[in-house]
Amino acid sequence: MVQTANNKLFEGLSPKEMIEATYEASKNFQIRAFYEAKDEIIDTGKYTEQEFFEILDVMIDDETERKIVLEHFKGQEPLFLGEIAEIIKEFPAENVIRDVIYLKEQGYVEELIEVKTKTVTKKIKGEEKEVEVKEYFYRYQVKDLEPDFIEHHFEPVSVVFNSGTCCQCGWCSTICPVNAIKVDADNLEIDDDKCMKCGLCFTVCPRSFSIDQANKATKKLNKKLNWSDKIGAYVNTYSGSTKNDEIMKVRQDGGVVTTIAEYLLDKKIVDAVIAVQHSKQLWKPEPVIIDDVKDLYKTAGTKYANSPSLSILDQTKKYENIAFVGVPCMMKALEKGKLFLCGLPFFKNIKYRIGLFCMESFPYEGIIKLAKEQFDKDINDLTKMNIGGGKFIIKLKSGEQLDVPLKEVQKYARESCHFCEDLTSDYADFSVGSIGSQDGWSSVITRTKESDEIYNEIIKNGDLESKNLKEVKPGLFLVEKIGGIKRNKCQDPYEKIKNSSEK
Ligand SMILES: Cc1cc2nc3c(=O)[nH]c(=O)nc-3n(C[C@H](O)[C@H](O)[C@H](O)COP(=O)(O)OP(=O)(O)OC[C@H]3O[C@@H](n4cnc5c(N)ncnc54)[C@H](O)[C@@H]3O)c2cc1C
Ligand code: SF4
Ligand code: SF4
Ligand code: SF4
Repeated sequence: MVQTANNKLFEGLSPKEMIEATYEASKNFQIRAFYEAKDEIIDTGKYTEQEFFEILDVMIDDETERKIVLEHFKGQEPLFLGEIAEIIKEFPAENVIRDVIYLKEQGYVEELIEVKTKTVTKKIKGEEKEVEVKEYFYRYQVKDLEPDFIEHHFEPVSVVFNSGTCCQCGWCSTICPVNAIKVDADNLEIDDDKCMKCGLCFTVCPRSFSIDQANKATKKLNKKLNWSDKIGAYVNTYSGSTKNDEIMKVRQDGGVVTTIAEYLLDKKIVDAVIAVQHSKQLWKPEPVIIDDVKDLYKTAGTKYANSPSLSILDQTKKYENIAFVGVPCMMKALEKGKLFLCGLPFFKNIKYRIGLFCMESFPYEGIIKLAKEQFDKDINDLTKMNIGGGKFIIKLKSGEQLDVPLKEVQKYARESCHFCEDLTSDYADFSVGSIGSQDGWSSVITRTKESDEIYNEIIKNGDLESKNLKEVKPGLFLVEKIGGIKRNKCQDPYEKIKNSSEK
């Protein structure tokens, strides 16, 4: 049915091994569903015929690689991901690691979790105390499969939505090759007549299965990166503030996000930025593609209602390079696309991911209710909302500022945010938030060599003031502390999906 692309990755493998792996790959349900729906996919207009075959090639190569990894991994003792990557030298370590995670989802590999308890000394309210902490160790082993074993297939993402864990990021609707999925800020619908059950939407969904162990193992192989269990991998951490007077008037915190976006557009490093602006209804965000710097300032400032920003990514095909601004769940969605579907034409153009910190977001109706019930104000009277110092703060057109303790507003937040473990956008290139920095400043985490270089070029260009986040108060300490709290209180979305689809 299909042929593998002539890919350098497979150089050095014997023809026999390639034929067997390709044959096994050709049985994969996802490849078959995609191939068999070729006419519908091209008629939908999302992909040209050439793009269709490019995607198919990548799907086949990825699946062939997985089958080879599986063969080389069989018969081993339970191993850590990094150890597996050391044994299987045929492919880059990051490919082997992501392949093992996917093979687990396909049913070939078992994840064995060992929990150990250790005693550490912690300062609690100024006093040093010994506390017990749990450590988790993840090992993987190929399962003993019955002869009639059938590879798991992935359901459409209605299973995610129905479980109540969907974060409405919109990524599945962009990915779906036949436009069967509609996502807005509150809802998700799948047109069963159009759906060809390829499961691509499930593969890329940030809530469908975890890639956190793969991320940790891959990042730890890069000795140039710092690793924190609470905020992920990073190059440097800063506290920054814009020097641009116009951005100062509209910014949320340090105006760093808008300053980075402006620099990227100005220097033609990207041709467009996807950000969020107020829709016709004030404080109801809508995603927008900005390709002219003069339109950028209207995107500044935080809108606390969620925006399904990834749903418009397929409209950016005409741009060679783009930057995407979004919350942590969207950064994870993009990472899944990078790991498992890197052949998608509109996806290859994402050059920079600017991730925000995020503790929770609210449904738009929740924001209206919050303003009314907590402050007795109409949403249209608000000029700014902010979270800081444990309070939810609003500013009014009159200039008045009011606040309530943060715990009072948590009941208005979206249920699905309880399944989110990431405060600081672990999967972004730049992460920006207010926790850790003083008013008028943003905390910034650069997570790649390239994003760190750009951040420093912006400082050199005179657009940003910046300090080391470790040297400001409360600084990196607080970011890590809150990051750890969010991880610890997160409910497991993957169990929830499993349990609700078994009912
Ligand atoms: C829902 C939400 C919750 C947040 N919670 C926290 C928190 O708990 N702790 C913390 O430290 N920081 C949080 N932040 C981040 C913080 O509010 C600021 O966005 C961040 O500090 C950057 O400030 P800035 O002045 O550099 O950004 P600006 O230069 O003002 O730019 C803000 C950028 O955010 C984008 N944006 C605004 N609203 C949304 C939205 N709903 N979805 C996607 N993008 C959006 C805009 O398009 C713009 O590009 C949250 C942000 C959001 C959107
Ligand atoms: S809804 Fe999901 S499973 Fe159905 S066609 Fe679209 S991507 Fe494939
Ligand atoms: S989390 Fe995102 S990708 Fe997953 S079902 Fe919801 S909208 Fe789709
Ligand atoms: S808390 Fe998590 S799921 Fe909720 S909006 Fe923020 S990043 Fe998305």
